[in-house]
Amino acid sequence: MASSDAHEQAPPTEYDVAIVGAGPSGLAAAIYSARGRRSTIVLERNLAGGQMALTYLVENYPGFPEGVSGFDLADKMKAQAAQFGAEIHEITAVESFTTTADGRHAITTDQGVVHARAAILAPGVEARRSGVPGEAEFIGRGVSWCATCDGALYRGKQVAVIGGGDSAVEEGLFLTKFADAVHVIHRRRELRAEKIIQERGFANPKMHFIWDSVPKRILGKDVVEGVEYANVKTHKLATLPVNGVFIYIGQTANTAFLKGVIELNEQGFIVTDELLRTGRAGVFACGDARANPIKQIAAAVGEGALAAVQVDKYLDSPECPPTGAKT
Ligand code: NAP
Repeated sequence: MASSDAHEQAPPTEYDVAIVGAGPSGLAAAIYSARGRRSTIVLERNLAGGQMALTYLVENYPGFPEGVSGFDLADKMKAQAAQFGAEIHEITAVESFTTTADGRHAITTDQGVVHARAAILAPGVEARRSGVPGEAEFIGRGVSWCATCDGALYRGKQVAVIGGGDSAVEEGLFLTKFADAVHVIHRRRELRAEKIIQERGFANPKMHFIWDSVPKRILGKDVVEGVEYANVKTHKLATLPVNGVFIYIGQTANTAFLKGVIELNEQGFIVTDELLRTGRAGVFACGDARANPIKQIAAAVGEGALAAVQVDKYLDSPECPPTGAKT
């Protein structure tokens, strides 16, 4: 991977395929691409596995009847991609994505520039911020988006979980391993979470549900001491004394670097056709950051495989710039 300065003097290394993101879709794409003997680089931000790596136990990925730790699954996918020759580079951020007149792509990161004939965008998602007063102030002091990372800090304590989807209830259940009580504050009377997860939530004596309510303020002096919430029907305010607030109100796509470059939908997710092609030749997208109706590891892996197969065909097509041609 050439640094920005080195790029000025020496010809850049060019890969057949650059994959942005090392979550399950990016890593699946890397396995297929490297096995197809295409030179492949994966740009990994923070941690391989993306959101999956933060999941304590993945129970719905086929092949693991006892479930599997998301972290371990990510580690194995990464090793599998590397074993077939994919280069995996840790970066902090992708700064820009550009395409030159001859159809090559340049991805600028904090570690330098990557050049490739084709690109697979799999940048994933991150937890959405609520914007509630106190949220930003208490990050790392009681406000968290990662039960797997921070749950053990709440042994014997009270926590609130905001949201009613799979993440809120699953992560809430994980928190019951440590906390004395987990209070799920949800804006409706019905959970969005998968039925089996709901059943477990309702059956767990440490799980308590506060319906039709939204957080208004996170309270505390140096650390979180409580959350003020409002009933959306009566508008009545109440305060719940808790030591931690875990926020799971959906996800935002990591696509800021693609704004104005690749078509995104109103929510910032990447728009593709059914063959995962973006509007730009040689640029494909897969995984949670793609505008799709299902955010599941199994689906992400399938999309990664499809994207790699499509890229393979593209690389042999007359549309694709040939290897080593001048930029
Ligand atoms: P989600 O499914 O979008 O659920 C977000 C929850 O937060 C919903 O209950 C929503 O309420 C609530 N919410 C949204 N905005 C809010 C706001 N401003 N204030 C208060 N509450 C708000 O998000 P997620 O649970 O993070 O899941 C994201 C995707 O990943 C989903 O497709 C999910 O199925 C998938 N996932 C799957 C698993 C699994 O398979 N085990 C685990 C985790 C995530 P409403 O219900 O009223 O809209």
